[in-house]
Amino acid sequence: MKVKEGMYMKKILEAIKNFFSASHERERKGIQATKHGMFNNFVYAVKLTWQLNNQFIIAMIVVGVLSALYMLIGIYIPKIVLALVENKVTTDTMIKVLVAVGIIILVVKLINTKAQYVGEYAWDKVYKGLVSKYLRKSFTTDFKNMENPDFLDLIERSKHAMYNYQGISGYCRRGSNILSNIVLVVIAGAAIAVINPLIILVLVVISYFIYKILDSTMEWTKVNFRDAMSSNFRKNYYFSSTARDFKYAKDIRLFKMQDFIEQTWKDINTVYYAACKKNHRKWVMCEAKMSFLRLFQNLLLYVVLIYMVLNKGMSISDFVLYIGLVASFSTAMTDMFCNMVWMNMNRMELDDFRTFLDWNEDKPDIEKGQGVSKNIGLKQFEFKFENVSFKYPGHEKYVLKNINLTIEAGSKLAVVGINGAGKTTLTKLLMRLYEPTEGRILLNGVDVKKYDRDTYFKIFSPVFQNIEIFAFPVWQNISMKPENETDKNRTMEALERSGLDEKINKYENKIDTMLLRIFDPNGVDLSGGERQRLAMARALYQNREVLVLDEPTAALDALAEDRMYQEFNQMVKGKTAIFISHRLSSTRFCDKIVMFEDGRIIEEGTHEQLIKANGKYRNMFQVQAQYYKDKEGEVC
Ligand code: ADP
Repeated sequence: MKVKEGMYMKKILEAIKNFFSASHERERKGIQATKHGMFNNFVYAVKLTWQLNNQFIIAMIVVGVLSALYMLIGIYIPKIVLALVENKVTTDTMIKVLVAVGIIILVVKLINTKAQYVGEYAWDKVYKGLVSKYLRKSFTTDFKNMENPDFLDLIERSKHAMYNYQGISGYCRRGSNILSNIVLVVIAGAAIAVINPLIILVLVVISYFIYKILDSTMEWTKVNFRDAMSSNFRKNYYFSSTARDFKYAKDIRLFKMQDFIEQTWKDINTVYYAACKKNHRKWVMCEAKMSFLRLFQNLLLYVVLIYMVLNKGMSISDFVLYIGLVASFSTAMTDMFCNMVWMNMNRMELDDFRTFLDWNEDKPDIEKGQGVSKNIGLKQFEFKFENVSFKYPGHEKYVLKNINLTIEAGSKLAVVGINGAGKTTLTKLLMRLYEPTEGRILLNGVDVKKYDRDTYFKIFSPVFQNIEIFAFPVWQNISMKPENETDKNRTMEALERSGLDEKINKYENKIDTMLLRIFDPNGVDLSGGERQRLAMARALYQNREVLVLDEPTAALDALAEDRMYQEFNQMVKGKTAIFISHRLSSTRFCDKIVMFEDGRIIEEGTHEQLIKANGKYRNMFQVQAQYYKDKEGEVC
């Protein structure tokens, strides 16, 4: 019996403790605590907003002060009216006083409303500025980050910092509310303290408990609901965008994928709804606790004030005034704490945004002389891979192992091997979309890290097997530049050389035709082969020093492929080129062939040398030659 009683007692004590304790959900969940404190983030938010549009901050200050004044006037009006009646003033005086008060209220209200409108309008500009920062970071972050789930979740979470009334906007608005609360607390508090300072103490203590309850619930929501659901939001977005994306429409219908996609989507949402329910329950409990405390507080104050009227000779007009002042003080106090709780939530959102903007990029180590050179200034380009090994970020397996390879200036290198051998990864390292895990890559004897990455990117013209087209006009999909930096005649020439001109010239707007239907309902899409020709046109237009061709003809028919090879031969004259192809006969025009298997180079030499060596290359070549012979036979 005693043991049972002890258990109940322990549970009750725990419940009381939980009732008042603030939680530290992030720490409990092992999530790194936010990097910047409340004040630090507040200064950051105000500074950033001020830079983007200072009217927003000014408006928030004006609104903060005037809202408090407006409330105080409201509290004093009943007192003034009652005092006029108690003092039996003339009707004339009463009208004059009331008109004066009315005018003051009207002026304060009008200025406040105007400031609110100015604030809303200014916020729009701040928002655009934030989105611009967000987009710039998303566009320029290291390529590898775009497939890092932690980073992708952070991108998703950072959005909250830009929404109105959340993150940065929330921070400034809460700041404005707190300013208003402080004005009220100071003025009302001073008036109340004159009659009894104990009242202030009770109000502060109870408001503090309300703050603690709200704070722990809010932190719980941020960590267990909003953060926890960020990958869920991302997956949801994937399904909704896949459903309306024309690219997937064919497969979804032909393979009858609707049902299982919908089921997967429902499963994701089942998890989401379960989290919503838990979150909702948490908030109902929070409201119940806060209402209980508020009720207790009001009862206590009424008892004190009624006692003063009955025993201390307080006038009715003063009673009404103090009821108003006490109510305002306590509301302002709890409001101030609540605003601090919201601010804490905004702090976490802002922290996500700052973490996103400050995300560690593979910055060159300037002290080691890396990333400093913005001028490559070379005429010849010779690359050398020195003991290069590589694994994708977050993966344990090496995709390339100890690669030693020289691509001589002006030479054509063919890279062959079965799927997954590491050929594309080699080109990604060469173009510095990723940095080697071990070893280094040299350009004319100099570590490529020495060069500024954007400058380095500019020496390559890549043609990939899968290319994405942008919802821009055709010419812009070739020049990849704004109109004033584009030579449209040259884009047309490139289009002719890639063999896509016939198709594009059939459209009314020719080279100005919009691709995709995002901005133009009459926009057009391109087939796989046409996209490859477009990629080829891009490379021709850019006319850069080093060509990287990664299975550039995979989607083309035999005739188009033949024509494309003739163009390649023209294009690569005098240039360094790397050519990946699964069709070995097409690699003959190359000076050297390297064969990859499981991330290693297993054979290296000219076509003739490799055939003579009688190894895997020869074997693969013969199998393919037989296949094409058989195909020819079938056609005949
Ligand atoms: P290939 O071009 O020879 O077909 P890849 O270089 O594309 O081969 O791929 C080599 C290996 O690296 C494969 O096992 C592939 O699954 C893996 N891989 C490719 N891209 C990524 C990536 N972004 N993240 C993780 N692994 C990858």
